[in-house]
Amino acid sequence: MSHIHQVLSQYWGYTRFRPLQEEIIRSVMEGHDTLALLPTGGGKSICFQVPALAKPGLCLVVSPLIALMRDQEEQLRSKGIRAASIVSGMNRSEVMRTIENCIHGDYKFLYVSPERLSSERFREALLHMPVSLIAVDEAHCISQWGHDFRPPYRKLAEIRDLFPNVPVLALTASATPEVRDDIQQQLRFTQPRVFTASFARSNISYLSRHSEDKLNHLLRILASVPGSGIIYVRNRRRTQEIAHILHQYGIRADFYHAGLDPASRQQRQDNWMQGRTRIMVATNAFGMGIDKPDVRSVVHLDLPENPENYYQEAGRAGRDGKRSFAVVLYNNEDLLELERRAVAAFPDREHIRSTYAAMCNSLNIPFGGGEGIQHPFELTSFCAQYKLEPASSLACLHMLELAGYLSLHDAVYMPSRVMIRIGPEPLYHFQVEQPRFDPIIKCLLRSYAGLFDVYTRISEFEIARRCKTDTAVIRQQLQTLADREIIYYAPSSDKAGVTLLEGRIHERDLRIPTELLEIRKERFQVRKEALITLLTDKHTCRSIRLLAYFGEHGVLRCGTCDVCRERNKVPLNDIRIDELRERIRGILQDKPMPASELLIALGPGGTNDVEDVIRWMLDGGELHTDALGRLALLEP
Ligand code: ADP
Ligand code: MG
Repeated sequence: MSHIHQVLSQYWGYTRFRPLQEEIIRSVMEGHDTLALLPTGGGKSICFQVPALAKPGLCLVVSPLIALMRDQEEQLRSKGIRAASIVSGMNRSEVMRTIENCIHGDYKFLYVSPERLSSERFREALLHMPVSLIAVDEAHCISQWGHDFRPPYRKLAEIRDLFPNVPVLALTASATPEVRDDIQQQLRFTQPRVFTASFARSNISYLSRHSEDKLNHLLRILASVPGSGIIYVRNRRRTQEIAHILHQYGIRADFYHAGLDPASRQQRQDNWMQGRTRIMVATNAFGMGIDKPDVRSVVHLDLPENPENYYQEAGRAGRDGKRSFAVVLYNNEDLLELERRAVAAFPDREHIRSTYAAMCNSLNIPFGGGEGIQHPFELTSFCAQYKLEPASSLACLHMLELAGYLSLHDAVYMPSRVMIRIGPEPLYHFQVEQPRFDPIIKCLLRSYAGLFDVYTRISEFEIARRCKTDTAVIRQQLQTLADREIIYYAPSSDKAGVTLLEGRIHERDLRIPTELLEIRKERFQVRKEALITLLTDKHTCRSIRLLAYFGEHGVLRCGTCDVCRERNKVPLNDIRIDELRERIRGILQDKPMPASELLIALGPGGTNDVEDVIRWMLDGGELHTDALGRLALLEP
C-alpha cells in the first residue's frame, strides 16, 4: 500500500480515493502548484489533508467560510490530528496562543480567514512556522471576474512570496474557464496545472418553467415528487410566508434564513436533516456545507443569483444518485427583477460615499480613528436611523468591503472557549482549597480534551446539564475562574459587526476603482444574460448549456430536462432532428415562407419528419407564423 493510501485508511478508514483525488494528491506531493475542480461533495478537503499528513510540516488552509473551517478543524481533532484556526471574533490571547502552537507544537493544519493574511504581525509569525503546503479553498474567490470575489484573497500572492518553494493547492467547485485562468495567474502558478472532474449530474432533471401561478405549480410539484426538498426564495419574509402556506396544505415545511438566531437555525436544520421537516423554505443562506443525500426536489420560486449559484443550489438534489428534480419557476416580472438587481448591486460613487459617512457617524468614529476595532453594527437599525434603503445601503457597504475599507461580520456564531492557565498540579490545589469550584472543574476536565494546551470550545449549556444546575450559574462560575486567573474564558458572541481596515477618512477621499465598479458590473451583466438564456432557451438541453458555461463540452444531451422532454416527443433520432433544424433555419434565415414552399425548398423525402420538426420548433418559440401566414424565425 502506498503512503497516501495508508494515510487515507489510517485516519479516515476509506479504502480508495474518489475520482481525481489521487492524481491531485500526487501532483501536490511532487511539489506542483495545482488547481483542483471537483463538484461540491466531491471530496476536496482530502486532497489537501492527505498530502499534508503524508509530508512533514504544517498545511496553511485559507477559507472564507468560518463555519466550515470550524467543522473541519473539529473533525481533524477528533482523529487525533493537531489542527487550529484563526478567525475573526477570537481575542488577542487566543490568537497568540494558536500561533505559538503552530510554531512549536507540531501542528499539522492551520485554518485562517483571508483577512488575516494582510496582518503584518500574522505574516511575521507565519515565517516561523514550518509551512509545507498552502491550500486555498473556494479559490474562485480570488478572481474579480467570478461571482464571489473576496479582495483579501489577493493577499495570497504575497504569502506565496514568503514560501517560494511551497506548492499551492487551489480548490473550487465552481469556476468558468476565464476564472480558472485567473486563479492560476493570481496565485502565480509556476506552470498551469488543472484537474477537472465532470460536473454532469445525470440523475438531476433540470426543469425550467414559465409560470404565472407559481404557488399552484409548486404544490403540484410537491405532490408528484415525494420526499425531502428545498425551496429557494429571495427574501426572508417570503421564506416564512411560503412555509406557512405549505403548512396549510398539510406539508411539513419550515423556513430558514440568516436573520434567525443560531440556535434556532441549527434546530431547523437538524429537523430537516433528520426528516422531521420535509420541506425547507430558505434563502440562499441555507445549504452551505449541508450534505443530505436524499433531497428529491430543489425548487427556485425566485430566480437564482447567477449560473454559479444555480448550479450549487440545484446540485443539492440527488446526492445519493437517485432521480431528483431541480425546478425553476419564473415569470416575466422575475426577468425584469433580474435587470433591477444589476442596477441595485452596483450603486454610484456618491451613494457609496454618503453611506460610508453615515456609518462612521452612527458608530461615533472620529476622522483618523476606528481602525481594526470591531464595532457592533446592525444594518436594519442603521438604515432606520438614517432613513436609508437597506438593499442599496448593503450594496454600498459591500462595495466598501471590496475596496478594502472595511470588513463586515455576519452574526457568525462563535461558541464560548476555555483554556486552563495553570498546570494540573496548581489546579488540583485550587480545587482542594475551593471546593465549590470542584464540580465545574471536574466536569470541564472530563468533557473536553486539551484544555491545558489550547482554547477549546465548550458549551455552558452542556456543563450545566452535567452539573445539574443552570447555564447562568455556570457562566458566572467560569467568569469567576477567569477573574482569578485560573482559566481563560471567551464567552460566545453572535453579534453582527463591522471593522474599519483603515482609520476613518473623509468620504471624498474614498477610492472605488473602475475594476470594482464598472468592470465588475459588466461581468455581472454577462452572468445575468447567461442565466436568462440557460433558463429560457427552448432548444439546447439545459444540462449541456450549464456544463458549457463551466467550459465542459462534448456532453450528450441529458434526455430528462424540459427541453429534452419536448424533443423526445419528436419521433426522430437526434442527428436527423439537428440536421433538419439546421436546414430549416438556413432557409428561413434568408426570408420567411409558407410551409408548402419550405417543404419544396428542403427537397424530396421525409415530409412527415419535416412536419414534426417544424411543429417542435413552433412549440419551442423558435419559429412563428407571421401576419402573412408564413413561417419565420423568431430570432434570425
Ligand atoms: P467538498 O469540499 O468537495 O465539497 P468534502 O471534502 O467536504 O467535499 O467531502 C465530502 C464528503 O465525502 C466527506 O464526508 C468526505 O469524508 C467524503 N469523502 C471524501 N473522499 C472520500 C473517499 N475517498 N472515500 C469515501 N468518502 C470520501
Ligand atoms: Mg469543501
